[in-house]
Amino acid sequence: MGQLAAAPYVVVGAGMHGLSTAYHLALELSRRELGSGADILVLDKATPGAGATGIACGVVRNNYFQPAMSELMQACVEVWESDPQAFAYNPVGYIALGAAVQEADLAATYERQERIGYRSELIEGEAEVDAHMKSLFPDWRAQGVTICLHEHQGGFAFNTDSVLGLRDKCLAEGVKVLSYTEVTGFRFRDDDSVSVVETSKGEIEVGEQVVVAPGPWARQFWSLLGLPAAIDIRTPGGDVVRDQPMWTYWNLQEGEISVDPLMFATADGGAPPVIHLDTDAPLYTDEGDLVTDELWGIYFKRDRHGVQGGASPLVVDGDVQLDPYPATTDVDESFPDMWCAALSHSMGRFEGCRAQYKHARSGGVGAFTADNFPVFDYVKPNVYAILDSNHGYKMIGVGKEVASALVGEHSRLLYPFRFERFATGDLHPVSSSPYPWS
Ligand SMILES: Cc1cc2nc3c(=O)[nH]c(=O)nc-3n(C[C@H](O)[C@H](O)[C@H](O)COP(=O)(O)OP(=O)(O)OC[C@H]3O[C@@H](n4cnc5c(N)ncnc54)[C@H](O)[C@@H]3O)c2cc1C
Repeated sequence: MGQLAAAPYVVVGAGMHGLSTAYHLALELSRRELGSGADILVLDKATPGAGATGIACGVVRNNYFQPAMSELMQACVEVWESDPQAFAYNPVGYIALGAAVQEADLAATYERQERIGYRSELIEGEAEVDAHMKSLFPDWRAQGVTICLHEHQGGFAFNTDSVLGLRDKCLAEGVKVLSYTEVTGFRFRDDDSVSVVETSKGEIEVGEQVVVAPGPWARQFWSLLGLPAAIDIRTPGGDVVRDQPMWTYWNLQEGEISVDPLMFATADGGAPPVIHLDTDAPLYTDEGDLVTDELWGIYFKRDRHGVQGGASPLVVDGDVQLDPYPATTDVDESFPDMWCAALSHSMGRFEGCRAQYKHARSGGVGAFTADNFPVFDYVKPNVYAILDSNHGYKMIGVGKEVASALVGEHSRLLYPFRFERFATGDLHPVSSSPYPWS
Protein backbone atom coordinates (compact mmCIF):
# COMPACT_ATOMS: atom_id res chain seq x y z
CA MET A 1 0.00 0.00 0.00
CA GLY A 2 1.33 3.46 -0.84
CA GLN A 3 1.22 6.41 1.50
CA LEU A 4 -2.33 7.16 0.35
CA ALA A 5 -4.27 4.28 -1.13
CA ALA A 6 -7.95 4.37 -1.95
CA ALA A 7 -10.87 1.96 -1.93
CA PRO A 8 -14.60 2.45 -2.40
CA TYR A 9 -15.39 0.07 0.48
CA VAL A 10 -13.10 -0.56 3.46
CA VAL A 11 -13.96 -3.42 5.82
CA VAL A 12 -12.10 -3.50 9.13
CA GLY A 13 -11.70 -6.96 10.68
CA ALA A 14 -11.29 -10.30 8.91
CA GLY A 15 -13.44 -12.39 11.22
CA MET A 16 -16.80 -13.97 10.53
CA HIS A 17 -18.56 -10.64 10.06
CA GLY A 18 -15.96 -8.73 8.08
CA LEU A 19 -15.37 -11.59 5.66
CA SER A 20 -19.04 -12.49 5.26
CA THR A 21 -19.87 -8.83 4.60
CA ALA A 22 -17.08 -8.47 2.05
CA TYR A 23 -18.10 -11.63 0.21
CA HIS A 24 -21.80 -10.81 0.10
CA LEU A 25 -21.12 -7.18 -0.82
CA ALA A 26 -18.99 -8.38 -3.74
CA LEU A 27 -21.94 -10.47 -4.92
CA GLU A 28 -24.38 -7.55 -4.47
CA LEU A 29 -22.18 -5.08 -6.35
CA SER A 30 -21.74 -7.50 -9.26
CA ARG A 31 -25.41 -8.49 -9.37
CA ARG A 32 -26.52 -4.86 -9.46
CA GLU A 33 -23.73 -3.92 -11.89
CA LEU A 34 -22.49 -1.35 -9.36
CA GLY A 35 -18.98 -2.75 -9.16
CA SER A 36 -17.27 -5.92 -8.00
CA GLY A 37 -15.16 -7.47 -5.27
CA ALA A 38 -12.22 -5.42 -6.53
CA ASP A 39 -13.91 -2.38 -4.92
CA ILE A 40 -13.56 -3.92 -1.45
CA LEU A 41 -10.53 -3.86 0.83
CA VAL A 42 -10.55 -5.93 4.03
CA LEU A 43 -8.00 -4.94 6.70
CA ASP A 44 -6.88 -6.97 9.68
CA LYS A 45 -4.20 -6.11 12.18
CA ALA A 46 -3.28 -9.80 12.31
CA THR A 47 -4.62 -12.47 9.93
CA PRO A 48 -8.11 -13.76 9.04
CA GLY A 49 -9.57 -15.58 12.04
CA ALA A 50 -7.10 -14.07 14.55
CA GLY A 51 -9.96 -12.80 16.71
CA ALA A 52 -12.95 -14.47 18.36
CA THR A 53 -13.99 -16.27 15.16
CA GLY A 54 -10.82 -18.37 15.18
CA ILE A 55 -11.35 -19.67 18.72
CA ALA A 56 -15.16 -19.99 18.76
CA CYS A 57 -16.54 -23.35 19.80
CA GLY A 58 -18.44 -23.06 16.53
CA VAL A 59 -21.93 -23.90 17.77
CA VAL A 60 -24.73 -22.98 15.37
CA ARG A 61 -28.16 -22.96 16.99
CA ASN A 62 -31.44 -21.13 17.03
CA ASN A 63 -32.32 -21.49 20.70
CA TYR A 64 -33.11 -17.81 21.18
CA PHE A 65 -36.01 -16.56 23.24
CA GLN A 66 -36.01 -13.16 21.47
CA PRO A 67 -38.13 -13.12 18.27
CA ALA A 68 -35.64 -10.90 16.40
CA MET A 69 -32.68 -13.13 17.27
CA SER A 70 -34.58 -16.22 16.24
CA GLU A 71 -35.59 -14.88 12.82
CA LEU A 72 -32.10 -13.57 12.12
CA MET A 73 -30.60 -16.90 13.15
CA GLN A 74 -32.86 -18.76 10.76
CA ALA A 75 -31.45 -16.63 7.93
CA CYS A 76 -27.93 -17.40 9.18
CA VAL A 77 -28.55 -21.14 9.21
CA GLU A 78 -29.72 -20.87 5.60
CA VAL A 79 -26.32 -19.42 4.69
CA TRP A 80 -24.51 -22.22 6.55
CA GLU A 81 -26.66 -24.77 4.71
CA SER A 82 -25.94 -23.12 1.34
CA ASP A 83 -22.34 -24.44 1.21
CA PRO A 84 -21.55 -26.84 4.08
CA GLN A 85 -18.29 -27.93 2.54
CA ALA A 86 -16.73 -24.48 2.11
CA PHE A 87 -17.97 -23.41 5.54
CA ALA A 88 -16.85 -26.67 7.25
CA TYR A 89 -20.38 -26.91 8.58
CA ASN A 90 -21.66 -30.04 10.35
CA PRO A 91 -25.48 -30.05 10.35
CA VAL A 92 -25.80 -32.43 13.29
CA GLY A 93 -28.56 -30.50 15.11
CA TYR A 94 -28.61 -29.04 18.59
CA ILE A 95 -30.31 -30.08 21.82
CA ALA A 96 -31.13 -27.66 24.65
CA LEU A 97 -32.10 -29.30 27.93
CA GLY A 98 -33.45 -27.23 30.79
CA ALA A 99 -34.71 -27.30 34.34
CA ALA A 100 -38.20 -26.21 35.46
CA VAL A 101 -37.22 -22.53 35.49
CA GLN A 102 -36.58 -22.66 31.72
CA GLU A 103 -39.74 -24.50 30.64
CA ALA A 104 -41.72 -21.44 29.60
CA ASP A 105 -38.80 -19.94 27.62
CA LEU A 106 -38.02 -23.10 25.71
CA ALA A 107 -41.70 -23.73 24.96
CA ALA A 108 -42.05 -20.18 23.61
CA THR A 109 -38.88 -20.60 21.54
CA TYR A 110 -40.20 -23.86 20.11
CA GLU A 111 -43.57 -22.31 19.21
CA ARG A 112 -41.82 -19.51 17.32
CA GLN A 113 -39.62 -22.01 15.52
CA GLU A 114 -42.78 -23.83 14.44
CA ARG A 115 -44.24 -20.57 13.13
CA ILE A 116 -41.17 -19.56 11.15
CA GLY A 117 -40.54 -23.06 9.81
CA TYR A 118 -37.37 -23.91 11.73
CA ARG A 119 -37.31 -27.69 12.18
CA SER A 120 -37.34 -28.72 15.83
CA GLU A 121 -39.27 -30.75 18.40
CA LEU A 122 -40.18 -30.09 22.02
CA ILE A 123 -40.16 -32.84 24.64
CA GLU A 124 -41.81 -32.01 27.96
CA GLY A 125 -41.72 -33.87 31.28
CA GLU A 126 -38.81 -35.45 33.13
CA ALA A 127 -39.55 -39.06 32.08
CA GLU A 128 -40.21 -38.09 28.46
CA VAL A 129 -37.00 -36.09 28.21
CA ASP A 130 -35.04 -38.92 29.77
CA ALA A 131 -36.52 -41.42 27.27
CA HIS A 132 -35.75 -39.12 24.32
CA MET A 133 -32.15 -38.69 25.42
CA LYS A 134 -31.71 -42.41 26.19
CA SER A 135 -32.93 -43.24 22.68
CA LEU A 136 -29.97 -41.21 21.39
CA PHE A 137 -27.48 -41.99 24.16
CA PRO A 138 -28.39 -45.14 26.18
CA ASP A 139 -26.05 -44.05 29.01
CA TRP A 140 -27.78 -40.65 29.43
CA ARG A 141 -28.19 -39.99 33.15
CA ALA A 142 -28.63 -36.25 33.72
CA GLN A 143 -31.03 -35.33 36.51
CA GLY A 144 -33.46 -32.48 37.03
CA VAL A 145 -34.16 -31.96 33.33
CA THR A 146 -37.82 -31.39 32.55
CA ILE A 147 -37.75 -29.87 29.09
CA CYS A 148 -35.85 -30.50 25.86
CA LEU A 149 -35.78 -28.51 22.65
CA HIS A 150 -34.26 -30.67 19.91
CA GLU A 151 -33.38 -28.52 16.90
CA HIS A 152 -33.00 -30.62 13.76
CA GLN A 153 -31.22 -27.76 11.99
CA GLY A 154 -27.99 -26.15 13.18
CA GLY A 155 -25.00 -27.99 14.62
CA PHE A 156 -21.46 -26.68 14.50
CA ALA A 157 -18.66 -25.67 12.14
CA PHE A 158 -14.89 -25.87 12.41
CA ASN A 159 -13.78 -22.33 13.24
CA THR A 160 -10.58 -21.76 11.28
CA ASP A 161 -11.69 -23.88 8.33
CA SER A 162 -14.83 -21.80 7.92
CA VAL A 163 -12.75 -18.59 8.04
CA LEU A 164 -10.52 -19.94 5.28
CA GLY A 165 -13.57 -20.96 3.26
CA LEU A 166 -14.99 -17.46 3.55
CA ARG A 167 -11.65 -15.84 2.80
CA ASP A 168 -11.30 -17.95 -0.35
CA LYS A 169 -14.79 -16.94 -1.46
CA CYS A 170 -13.76 -13.30 -1.00
CA LEU A 171 -10.55 -13.76 -2.97
CA ALA A 172 -12.42 -15.54 -5.77
CA GLU A 173 -14.63 -12.43 -6.09
CA GLY A 174 -11.57 -10.17 -6.33
CA VAL A 175 -11.76 -8.76 -2.78
CA LYS A 176 -8.37 -7.69 -1.39
CA VAL A 177 -7.62 -8.97 2.10
CA LEU A 178 -4.69 -7.22 3.80
CA SER A 179 -3.20 -8.84 6.90
CA TYR A 180 -0.98 -7.08 9.45
CA THR A 181 -2.56 -3.71 8.71
CA GLU A 182 -3.77 -2.09 11.90
CA VAL A 183 -6.37 0.66 11.82
CA THR A 184 -5.22 3.43 14.12
CA GLY A 185 -7.77 6.16 13.47
CA PHE A 186 -10.30 7.82 11.18
CA ARG A 187 -10.50 11.28 9.62
CA PHE A 188 -13.92 12.84 9.24
CA ARG A 189 -15.53 15.22 6.74
CA ASP A 190 -17.71 18.14 7.88
CA ASP A 191 -20.81 15.96 7.64
CA ASP A 192 -19.18 13.47 10.10
CA SER A 193 -18.63 10.84 7.42
CA VAL A 194 -15.24 9.12 7.33
CA SER A 195 -12.93 10.32 4.55
CA VAL A 196 -9.73 8.49 5.49
CA VAL A 197 -8.89 5.32 7.40
CA GLU A 198 -5.51 5.67 9.08
CA THR A 199 -3.50 2.46 9.32
CA SER A 200 -0.09 1.24 10.40
CA LYS A 201 0.79 0.98 6.70
CA GLY A 202 -0.47 4.34 5.51
CA GLU A 203 -3.74 6.12 4.88
CA ILE A 204 -6.65 4.83 2.85
CA GLU A 205 -9.04 7.23 1.20
CA VAL A 206 -12.63 5.99 1.47
CA GLY A 207 -14.68 6.32 -1.70
CA GLU A 208 -18.01 5.10 -0.37
CA GLN A 209 -18.39 3.33 2.94
CA VAL A 210 -16.57 1.75 5.87
CA VAL A 211 -17.66 -1.36 7.75
CA VAL A 212 -16.20 -2.01 11.19
CA ALA A 213 -16.39 -5.60 12.44
CA PRO A 214 -13.83 -5.61 15.27
CA GLY A 215 -15.21 -8.40 17.51
CA PRO A 216 -13.77 -8.06 21.04
CA TRP A 217 -12.07 -4.77 20.07
CA ALA A 218 -15.52 -3.13 19.88
CA ARG A 219 -14.87 -0.64 22.68
CA GLN A 220 -11.67 0.55 21.03
CA PHE A 221 -13.47 1.26 17.74
CA TRP A 222 -16.39 2.84 19.55
CA SER A 223 -13.92 5.30 21.03
CA LEU A 224 -12.01 5.87 17.72
CA LEU A 225 -15.37 6.81 16.19
CA GLY A 226 -16.05 9.29 18.99
CA LEU A 227 -19.06 7.37 20.37
CA PRO A 228 -20.02 7.58 24.07
CA ALA A 229 -18.48 5.18 26.61
CA ALA A 230 -21.65 5.37 28.73
CA ILE A 231 -25.25 5.69 27.55
CA ASP A 232 -28.71 6.28 28.99
CA ILE A 233 -31.11 3.38 28.49
CA ARG A 234 -34.87 3.74 28.34
CA THR A 235 -36.46 0.56 29.65
CA PRO A 236 -39.64 -0.82 28.04
CA GLY A 237 -41.51 0.49 31.12
CA GLY A 238 -40.41 4.06 30.31
CA ASP A 239 -37.83 4.64 33.08
CA VAL A 240 -34.45 5.90 32.01
CA VAL A 241 -31.36 4.27 33.54
CA ARG A 242 -28.53 6.78 33.27
CA ASP A 243 -24.85 6.35 32.46
CA GLN A 244 -24.65 2.64 31.72
CA PRO A 245 -21.34 1.37 30.32
CA MET A 246 -21.77 0.69 26.62
CA TRP A 247 -19.25 -2.19 26.78
CA THR A 248 -18.55 -4.90 29.31
CA TYR A 249 -16.27 -7.92 28.95
CA TRP A 250 -16.81 -11.57 29.81
CA ASN A 251 -14.34 -14.43 29.81
CA LEU A 252 -15.73 -17.43 28.01
CA GLN A 253 -14.61 -20.63 29.66
CA GLU A 254 -14.07 -23.52 27.31
CA GLY A 255 -12.04 -26.71 27.29
CA GLU A 256 -11.74 -30.16 25.81
CA ILE A 257 -11.03 -33.76 26.68
CA SER A 258 -8.66 -35.80 24.51
CA VAL A 259 -10.67 -38.94 23.77
CA ASP A 260 -11.45 -40.92 20.65
CA PRO A 261 -14.11 -38.68 19.06
CA LEU A 262 -16.07 -41.75 18.01
CA MET A 263 -16.76 -42.62 21.67
CA PHE A 264 -19.23 -39.73 21.52
CA ALA A 265 -21.73 -41.05 18.98
CA THR A 266 -25.47 -41.71 18.97
CA ALA A 267 -26.84 -45.20 19.65
CA ASP A 268 -26.90 -45.95 15.91
CA GLY A 269 -23.31 -44.78 15.45
CA GLY A 270 -24.30 -41.39 14.02
CA ALA A 271 -22.76 -37.96 14.65
CA PRO A 272 -24.12 -36.56 17.92
CA PRO A 273 -26.02 -33.27 18.07
CA VAL A 274 -24.44 -30.43 20.04
CA ILE A 275 -25.72 -30.66 23.62
CA HIS A 276 -26.52 -27.81 25.97
CA LEU A 277 -27.59 -28.87 29.44
CA ASP A 278 -28.83 -26.61 32.25
CA THR A 279 -30.03 -28.20 35.48
CA ASP A 280 -30.39 -27.50 39.17
CA ALA A 281 -29.57 -31.08 40.20
CA PRO A 282 -26.59 -31.09 42.62
CA LEU A 283 -23.35 -31.62 40.72
CA TYR A 284 -20.70 -33.95 42.13
CA THR A 285 -17.27 -34.96 40.86
CA ASP A 286 -16.73 -38.66 40.13
CA GLU A 287 -15.04 -38.84 43.54
CA GLY A 288 -18.26 -37.64 45.21
CA ASP A 289 -17.26 -34.04 46.07
CA LEU A 290 -20.02 -31.46 45.72
CA VAL A 291 -19.24 -28.96 42.93
CA THR A 292 -22.45 -26.92 43.18
CA ASP A 293 -26.05 -27.25 44.27
CA GLU A 294 -27.21 -24.20 42.30
CA LEU A 295 -28.36 -23.99 38.68
CA TRP A 296 -25.42 -24.94 36.45
CA GLY A 297 -24.96 -25.45 32.74
CA ILE A 298 -22.57 -26.80 30.14
CA TYR A 299 -22.43 -27.30 26.38
CA PHE A 300 -20.37 -29.80 24.42
CA LYS A 301 -19.85 -31.19 20.96
CA ARG A 302 -17.79 -33.82 19.21
CA ASP A 303 -14.59 -32.31 17.87
CA ARG A 304 -11.81 -33.60 15.63
CA HIS A 305 -9.65 -34.75 18.52
CA GLY A 306 -12.10 -35.29 21.32
CA VAL A 307 -15.02 -33.53 22.94
CA GLN A 308 -15.06 -29.75 23.31
CA GLY A 309 -17.35 -27.33 25.11
CA GLY A 310 -17.78 -24.79 27.84
CA ALA A 311 -19.78 -23.44 30.75
CA SER A 312 -21.11 -20.10 31.99
CA PRO A 313 -18.74 -17.19 31.33
CA LEU A 314 -17.21 -14.92 33.99
CA VAL A 315 -17.47 -11.15 34.08
CA VAL A 316 -14.12 -9.40 33.63
CA ASP A 317 -13.73 -6.95 36.50
CA GLY A 318 -11.81 -3.79 35.81
CA ASP A 319 -9.70 -3.29 32.73
CA VAL A 320 -9.56 -5.93 30.05
CA GLN A 321 -6.35 -6.65 28.22
CA LEU A 322 -7.10 -7.97 24.76
CA ASP A 323 -3.73 -8.27 23.09
CA PRO A 324 -2.27 -10.65 22.25
CA TYR A 325 -5.63 -12.35 21.72
CA PRO A 326 -6.69 -14.62 23.44
CA ALA A 327 -3.55 -15.28 25.46
CA THR A 328 -4.65 -13.04 28.31
CA THR A 329 -7.68 -15.17 29.13
CA ASP A 330 -8.12 -16.30 32.69
CA VAL A 331 -10.10 -19.50 32.85
CA ASP A 332 -11.30 -20.19 36.38
CA GLU A 333 -9.03 -22.80 37.95
CA SER A 334 -12.04 -24.83 38.98
CA PHE A 335 -13.42 -24.97 35.40
CA PRO A 336 -11.91 -28.36 34.39
CA ASP A 337 -13.33 -30.06 37.51
CA MET A 338 -16.76 -28.54 36.98
CA TRP A 339 -16.94 -29.20 33.23
CA CYS A 340 -15.72 -32.80 33.49
CA ALA A 341 -18.05 -33.50 36.43
CA ALA A 342 -20.90 -32.15 34.33
CA LEU A 343 -19.97 -34.33 31.34
CA SER A 344 -19.95 -37.34 33.63
CA HIS A 345 -23.29 -36.27 35.14
CA SER A 346 -24.72 -36.27 31.60
CA MET A 347 -23.53 -39.63 30.30
CA GLY A 348 -21.89 -42.69 31.82
CA ARG A 349 -19.33 -42.81 29.01
CA PHE A 350 -17.72 -39.65 30.39
CA GLU A 351 -17.11 -41.08 33.85
CA GLY A 352 -13.44 -40.53 34.76
CA CYS A 353 -12.89 -38.09 31.88
CA ARG A 354 -11.19 -35.56 34.18
CA ALA A 355 -7.93 -37.44 33.55
CA GLN A 356 -8.29 -36.74 29.82
CA TYR A 357 -8.79 -32.99 30.25
CA LYS A 358 -6.44 -31.23 27.88
CA HIS A 359 -4.21 -28.73 29.59
CA ALA A 360 -4.15 -26.00 26.99
CA ARG A 361 -5.34 -22.45 27.10
CA SER A 362 -8.89 -22.38 25.91
CA GLY A 363 -11.69 -19.87 25.84
CA GLY A 364 -11.33 -16.15 25.32
CA VAL A 365 -12.76 -12.74 25.97
CA GLY A 366 -15.92 -11.36 24.38
CA ALA A 367 -17.26 -7.78 24.30
CA PHE A 368 -20.89 -7.31 25.30
CA THR A 369 -23.14 -4.31 24.67
CA ALA A 370 -25.20 -2.54 27.33
CA ASP A 371 -28.13 -4.96 26.85
CA ASN A 372 -26.07 -7.99 25.75
CA PHE A 373 -27.59 -7.98 22.26
CA PRO A 374 -25.88 -6.99 19.02
CA VAL A 375 -25.71 -3.53 17.53
CA PHE A 376 -25.91 -3.71 13.74
CA ASP A 377 -26.28 -0.18 12.46
CA TYR A 378 -24.83 2.91 10.84
CA VAL A 379 -22.94 4.78 13.56
CA LYS A 380 -21.71 7.54 11.19
CA PRO A 381 -23.20 8.57 7.84
CA ASN A 382 -20.92 6.13 5.98
CA VAL A 383 -19.78 3.78 8.76
CA TYR A 384 -21.69 0.58 9.39
CA ALA A 385 -20.82 -1.19 12.67
CA ILE A 386 -21.22 -4.93 13.21
CA LEU A 387 -20.94 -5.39 16.96
CA ASP A 388 -22.43 -8.77 17.75
CA SER A 389 -22.14 -8.81 21.56
CA ASN A 390 -20.39 -12.16 21.28
CA HIS A 391 -23.35 -13.96 19.69
CA GLY A 392 -21.91 -14.17 16.33
CA TYR A 393 -19.83 -17.04 15.01
CA LYS A 394 -23.12 -18.62 14.05
CA MET A 395 -24.29 -15.32 12.50
CA ILE A 396 -22.74 -15.89 9.09
CA GLY A 397 -25.86 -14.41 7.48
CA VAL A 398 -25.46 -10.98 9.10
CA GLY A 399 -22.87 -10.02 6.48
CA LYS A 400 -25.41 -10.84 3.77
CA GLU A 401 -27.97 -8.53 5.37
CA VAL A 402 -25.36 -5.80 5.92
CA ALA A 403 -24.29 -6.07 2.28
CA SER A 404 -27.82 -5.30 1.16
CA ALA A 405 -28.01 -2.40 3.65
CA LEU A 406 -24.79 -1.00 2.14
CA VAL A 407 -26.37 -0.86 -1.29
CA GLY A 408 -29.42 0.92 0.10
CA GLU A 409 -31.88 -1.87 0.93
CA HIS A 410 -33.75 -1.85 4.25
CA SER A 411 -33.05 -5.01 6.27
CA ARG A 412 -36.10 -6.07 8.27
CA LEU A 413 -33.98 -8.63 10.10
CA LEU A 414 -31.35 -6.12 11.25
CA TYR A 415 -33.75 -3.31 12.18
CA PRO A 416 -34.36 -4.58 15.78
CA PHE A 417 -30.60 -4.28 16.39
CA ARG A 418 -30.29 -0.56 15.69
CA PHE A 419 -28.42 1.55 18.27
CA GLU A 420 -31.42 3.83 18.71
CA ARG A 421 -33.23 1.10 20.70
CA PHE A 422 -31.39 2.19 23.85
CA ALA A 423 -32.98 5.65 23.58
CA THR A 424 -36.45 4.50 22.52
CA GLY A 425 -36.81 1.58 24.95
CA ASP A 426 -37.42 -0.84 22.10
CA LEU A 427 -35.30 -3.49 23.85
CA HIS A 428 -35.27 -7.26 23.41
CA PRO A 429 -37.07 -9.46 25.95
CA VAL A 430 -34.82 -11.13 28.53
CA SER A 431 -34.87 -14.90 29.07
CA SER A 432 -34.35 -16.96 32.26
CA SER A 433 -31.11 -18.43 30.94
CA PRO A 434 -27.99 -18.02 33.09
CA TYR A 435 -25.97 -17.04 29.98
CA PRO A 436 -25.56 -13.43 28.80
CA TRP A 437 -26.02 -14.57 25.19
CA SER A 438 -29.41 -16.30 25.39
C1 LIG B 1 -14.19 -18.63 23.48
C2 LIG B 1 -15.32 -18.20 22.58
C3 LIG B 1 -16.21 -19.16 22.10
C4 LIG B 1 -17.27 -18.78 21.27
N1 LIG B 1 -18.11 -19.74 20.79
C5 LIG B 1 -19.11 -19.39 19.95
C6 LIG B 1 -19.97 -20.38 19.40
O1 LIG B 1 -19.82 -21.58 19.67
N2 LIG B 1 -20.96 -19.97 18.56
C7 LIG B 1 -21.15 -18.66 18.25
O2 LIG B 1 -22.06 -18.36 17.51
N3 LIG B 1 -20.34 -17.69 18.75
C8 LIG B 1 -19.33 -18.02 19.58
N4 LIG B 1 -18.51 -17.06 20.09
C9 LIG B 1 -18.71 -15.66 19.68
C10 LIG B 1 -18.07 -15.43 18.32
O3 LIG B 1 -16.79 -16.02 18.27
C11 LIG B 1 -17.96 -13.94 18.02
O4 LIG B 1 -19.19 -13.31 18.27
C12 LIG B 1 -17.61 -13.72 16.53
O5 LIG B 1 -16.58 -14.58 16.13
C13 LIG B 1 -17.22 -12.27 16.29
O6 LIG B 1 -16.83 -12.16 14.95
P1 LIG B 1 -16.25 -10.79 14.44
O7 LIG B 1 -15.98 -10.97 12.98
O8 LIG B 1 -17.12 -9.67 14.85
O9 LIG B 1 -14.91 -10.58 15.28
P2 LIG B 1 -13.47 -11.33 15.27
O10 LIG B 1 -13.52 -12.70 14.76
O11 LIG B 1 -12.88 -11.10 16.61
O12 LIG B 1 -12.69 -10.47 14.19
C14 LIG B 1 -12.26 -9.16 14.45
C15 LIG B 1 -10.96 -8.95 13.72
O13 LIG B 1 -10.61 -7.58 13.84
C16 LIG B 1 -9.22 -7.49 13.87
N5 LIG B 1 -8.86 -6.19 14.47
C17 LIG B 1 -9.03 -5.79 15.75
N6 LIG B 1 -8.56 -4.54 15.91
C18 LIG B 1 -8.12 -4.14 14.69
C19 LIG B 1 -7.50 -2.92 14.23
N7 LIG B 1 -7.27 -1.88 15.03
N8 LIG B 1 -7.17 -2.88 12.93
C20 LIG B 1 -7.39 -3.91 12.08
N9 LIG B 1 -7.95 -5.08 12.50
C21 LIG B 1 -8.31 -5.18 13.77
C22 LIG B 1 -8.79 -8.67 14.71
O14 LIG B 1 -7.44 -9.05 14.44
C23 LIG B 1 -9.79 -9.75 14.29
O15 LIG B 1 -9.29 -10.63 13.31
C24 LIG B 1 -17.44 -17.42 20.93
C25 LIG B 1 -16.56 -16.44 21.41
C26 LIG B 1 -15.49 -16.82 22.23
C27 LIG B 1 -14.55 -15.77 22.73
